[in-house]
Amino acid sequence: MTIDELAAVLRVHQGPFFHGTHSRCGCRRIVLTADEWARHVAEEQRAAVVKARTITTVEQLDALPMRSIVRCARGFAWAKHSPNPRLPSAVWYDAGCEDGQYPGEVPLPATVLYNPEADQ
Ligand SMILES: [Zn+2]
Repeated sequence: MTIDELAAVLRVHQGPFFHGTHSRCGCRRIVLTADEWARHVAEEQRAAVVKARTITTVEQLDALPMRSIVRCARGFAWAKHSPNPRLPSAVWYDAGCEDGQYPGEVPLPATVLYNPEADQ
C-alpha cells in the first residue's frame, strides 16, 4: 500500500470534531473519546492494508512485480520469478520446492507478504 493510499484513509477519518454533545470522525461516525477515535482510525487503516494486500485473481498475481512473495490460501509462501528473462510469463515458486508453477496454480485468495516496489 502506498503512502498516498494511506493518506487517503486518513483524509476520510480526520478529527475527532466536537459537535455540541458528542464528537464525530470525519466519516461521520460518533466517537466518545479521542482514544475511541484513534482506535477507529487504526482499524480503518488496517482494513485498507488487508484489502490492498489480498489477491483474488490471476490477473492481480500477474500484476505483481518480480520477487514478490505471497502466502496462498493453503498457507504456503510463493515467490515470483522469471526462470528465463526472454519468456514473457513469470513463474511462482512454492517455498522449499524447486519446480515453478504458473500463476493459475497458486491457490487463491493469497496475501501479499512482500512487494519489492511498495515495501522498502
Ligand atoms: Zn472514521
